[in-house]
Amino acid sequence: MKIIFLGAPGAGKGTQSEIVSAQYGIPAISTGAIIREAIAKGTEMGLAAKVFTENGELVPDDVVIGIIKERLSEDDCKNGFILDGFPRTVTQAEALDAMGVDIDLVISIEVADKDIVKRMSGRRVCANCGASYHIVYKPSAKKTKCEKCGKRLSIRSDDKPEVVLERLSVYHERTEPLKDFYKNKGKCVEVQGQEILDDTTALVRQQLEKAFGK
Ligand code: ADP
Ligand code: ZN
Repeated sequence: MKIIFLGAPGAGKGTQSEIVSAQYGIPAISTGAIIREAIAKGTEMGLAAKVFTENGELVPDDVVIGIIKERLSEDDCKNGFILDGFPRTVTQAEALDAMGVDIDLVISIEVADKDIVKRMSGRRVCANCGASYHIVYKPSAKKTKCEKCGKRLSIRSDDKPEVVLERLSVYHERTEPLKDFYKNKGKCVEVQGQEILDDTTALVRQQLEKAFGK
């Protein structure tokens, strides 16, 4: 099972891919999370990526393609994987093809721009373990602390309203064309992102059952 989640920033890709990962026992790979971890650790790649993410821009293709190549070669990807946040450009999608990766299903989670802006203002993340929450839609059981590791939650630096607008415009310009890229291969389905997280999960599950029969 090789699955891609597409969608605007904050559409719910990360949340849904974690759920699908737990359900099918395949890893969820988030380039955003890998990049944030590298920034937090202050690695060379992290330092190079920092300015791009802070301005709501994409990290250069060769950097993320390198990250993904390495990650997909790991053992736990043998039976499949879920990609969250990759590919984000046609160049990245072509690189995936060139690696010989045959994607089975692309699920695009559709959320209107005005709803995205609303959602992002409530997003909270754990800088320690990468878990993601929302003050209304997906609150932590430990309130202002991470329910997984107990560390205090924070607002992502790129979730500031002006940066969110930039990320949205980058999404429409660079990433949205991937829907046609994969539709032309007969692999892309759209799911309407719902206000209630579980409702989106139910729609995602329908598509997975249709594609994989389980
Ligand atoms: P979101 O989906 O909420 O925008 P992510 O966590 O997926 O956030 O990504 C955060 C940031 O990391 C992006 O705004 C971008 O700067 C960088 N990034 C993540 N994935 C990619 C990618 N595939 N290509 C280029 N940049 C990326
Ligand atoms: Zn945590």
